[in-house]
Amino acid sequence: MLGLKIESRSRLVAIFFMGLLCYGINAVFADVAPTGGIQHYSPVYLAAYDREHHLLALIRSYENQGTAYYLTVDSNTLVTQVMRASDVNLLLDNKVLNNSNYFKMLERYSEAPYPLVNYGLTRAGKDVPGVFLTIDLCPSHKLFEQRFFETLVAMSEKEDRPIPIAISVTGLWMIHHSAEMNWLLAQEKNNKLQIIWVNHSFHHPVKDHFLLAPGINFDEEVFDTEKLLLAEGEVPSVFFRFPGLESNQELILKLREFGLIAVGSDAWLAKGQKITQGSIILVHGNSNEPLGIKLIMPMLQADQLHLLPLLQAL
Ligand SMILES: [Zn+2]
Repeated sequence: MLGLKIESRSRLVAIFFMGLLCYGINAVFADVAPTGGIQHYSPVYLAAYDREHHLLALIRSYENQGTAYYLTVDSNTLVTQVMRASDVNLLLDNKVLNNSNYFKMLERYSEAPYPLVNYGLTRAGKDVPGVFLTIDLCPSHKLFEQRFFETLVAMSEKEDRPIPIAISVTGLWMIHHSAEMNWLLAQEKNNKLQIIWVNHSFHHPVKDHFLLAPGINFDEEVFDTEKLLLAEGEVPSVFFRFPGLESNQELILKLREFGLIAVGSDAWLAKGQKITQGSIILVHGNSNEPLGIKLIMPMLQADQLHLLPLLQAL
């Protein structure tokens, strides 16, 4: 009991000083993830059938307002969903997942070698008729790239479909940009944008190689952002983008244990990389890298990019 108290107290102190460093004293208490009633959040790896007899992997269990839920992954399509525990039929043995597409992808994207930068899915693994747009929302004091997002919405009117984008979101960005977050959710609700949420960690530490720095609690970096998304009524995808695209074997294997796949990029526009068919494009939507936005805007406005949902890259 005493140990627990000391641990949680030192964590609070750490959060306090980190907050001081990052945001000044006024915003300190806003940097703790509001759980939105989500409790007992934990990683699991279970097999189950839904009511239509689709084979699912259950990767998180939690309670919300007294009801038990799972975050589920369709073992064939890798589409994630939140389901009540009462709506799935648990199987005794999770080995039934071993032949699934999901298992195959988890294996493929956790294999050696482990380069420091850009490990994981960096472009389509097969022929596809377009490209994938990933938009990073690392913590930022600036308003987001409004004209860029509005251009995507305008594209949806021209193309008469919700525009598929992947947003790599951090917990801190969500907490400090609730109006912009609500705007994005409204575009999704109005079928203008089809958003895949990629977890980009909670705090997005930068110093000493991002999440590889000593003292980082990787589990919390992953789960706290998931909880925030769930509290918003959104569903985290199977994708995780490492801050700075930097990872190592230990973190990749942990990510695999959590049922997630690292997503890198072969077309980080601000770094001068070029888009080819099947590319995973990386731009920053948080106004911290205007060059990438400047480069992609004319392509979007001239309808030069056929954007595809990120799951099609697998
Ligand atoms: Zn980032």
